Amino acid sequence: TSPACRETILAIKPYVPGKPIEEVQRELGIKDVIKLASNENPLGPSPDAVRAIQEAAERVYLYPDGNCYYLKNALAEKHGVSPENIIVGNGTDEIIKMLAEAYLNPGDEIVVADPTFSEYEFAALVMAGRAVKVPCRSFRHDLKAMAAAITSRTRLVFICNPNNPTGTIVGQMMLDNFLKEIPPSVLVVLDEAYADYVTAEHYPDSLAYVRYGRPNVIVLRTFSKIYGLAGLRVGYGVAVPEIIKNLNRVREPFNVNLVAQAAAFAALKDEAHYRKSREINIEGKQYLYEQFAAMGLTYVPTETNFIFVDVGQDSRGVFQELLKRGVIVRTGDIFGYDTYLRVTIGTPRQNERFIKALREVL
Ligand code: PMP
Repeated sequence: TSPACRETILAIKPYVPGKPIEEVQRELGIKDVIKLASNENPLGPSPDAVRAIQEAAERVYLYPDGNCYYLKNALAEKHGVSPENIIVGNGTDEIIKMLAEAYLNPGDEIVVADPTFSEYEFAALVMAGRAVKVPCRSFRHDLKAMAAAITSRTRLVFICNPNNPTGTIVGQMMLDNFLKEIPPSVLVVLDEAYADYVTAEHYPDSLAYVRYGRPNVIVLRTFSKIYGLAGLRVGYGVAVPEIIKNLNRVREPFNVNLVAQAAAFAALKDEAHYRKSREINIEGKQYLYEQFAAMGLTYVPTETNFIFVDVGQDSRGVFQELLKRGVIVRTGDIFGYDTYLRVTIGTPRQNERFIKALREVL
């Protein structure tokens, strides 16, 4: 690492994740705590995945398959691509980091929306790169401005689709037009962590770009959201083999653990759990929309399992008051929206409890 890199790293502000349930129980002495802060699946994992985890437990004295053979083949079949098109990571987070490692030299740039998922900038900073942040328009990616922000130093463009924390999407036509403007030397990363929750028909079939061999697109997906396996850390990327080869150069040999591979494989096959998770999210979304409207609160219509809602006052105070009532959410200040909360859509009981607490606080 050059001195310049160490300087950049010292300037990085550590990421503060959503508070774990146990921490709130310990600190506030509350037993019954619900977490609606990290966009996890409120139904938990598929029972099939739990069984696979139990069976895999007996094999943990062995190293995992560094090539994720079975999981990659199952994913390839699901997406109509070949296993050579896939890289599996210790969460999508790890793949974002690998992208920065494989593609950035010190001083290189990435283009991201603002607000968006913070890991992109973090990964760039670790490589002494720089994030060029392009403000959203009406909470949506401003693709024209993002294309215009590309310079000779740009290596990666991150499109978070749907976007965290706004829940908005970039549609098929917009994305098609955007990609036409992007030079082949720039890799476009389509982070689709929340794709499984989307209901809008104009959501892009981005895997088709890979199927048609587009050389500068990678699609990221995760098992942390609808598949309910956030604690096991499994995410994957789909791209042409050349990109996958580049990422494999920087990948740790055993980056995805044995239990995680078995669980993800089983989760992928449990379509009933997937459907149920989607349905409960759609119902919860409608309930929260109605409640917010009844309370006179504005929110950004979402294509995800969370909602960005304006509580009309500094949301840090609201966050603390909700915490005292055993409800963990996220504040919008880290994204530059001081009066917003980002709340994960929970089970009907969790949503009711959140609304009851919110009514008490506001
Ligand atoms: N991308 C986005 C947009 C996310 O919101 C998250 C989770 N917070 C991730 C990636 C990371 O997911 P994973 O658990 O697979 O690392």
